[in-house]
Amino acid sequence: MDTQPGCEQIQEWLVAGELPPGLRDHVEACGECRFVAELSQRFGQDAGRSRSAGPLGGALEGILESAVGGGEPFLGRYRLESQAGSGGQGRVFRAIDLETDDVVAIKLVRVREPEAKALEVAHARRVRHPNVCRVFHAERHGELRIIVMEYL
Ligand SMILES: [Zn+2]
Repeated sequence: MDTQPGCEQIQEWLVAGELPPGLRDHVEACGECRFVAELSQRFGQDAGRSRSAGPLGGALEGILESAVGGGEPFLGRYRLESQAGSGGQGRVFRAIDLETDDVVAIKLVRVREPEAKALEVAHARRVRHPNVCRVFHAERHGELRIIVMEYL
């Protein structure tokens, strides 16, 4: 039986500074936990306190909350201004691209493996559609997808 705690739990410990030493190897090896660890170093002080429930998991939700309107630029170049939407899988933020001054939407979603394939097919279909909104940047950390796109 696998009693390894899930990534969301591990990330909460990380942000709270209570990571059991035995889980450091997991954080090193897991793209998503490593990403949250890096974020928490940048936005960490308040993030541990405002641990709110949400589709992205407590640790990441807290980090994003403290990143809105403060702290260092998100992904090095985006200032999160406000939350623009929230759904079952993730959140969308209105942000300013500090390099171009453009308003952009940053979408963060957690995608479980079985859903990932369907999502990719849906995306592939959408790019052929003329009214597609432009995607400026996308990255993936484990189950976490971050998409920077045109703000409509
Ligand atoms: Zn992990």
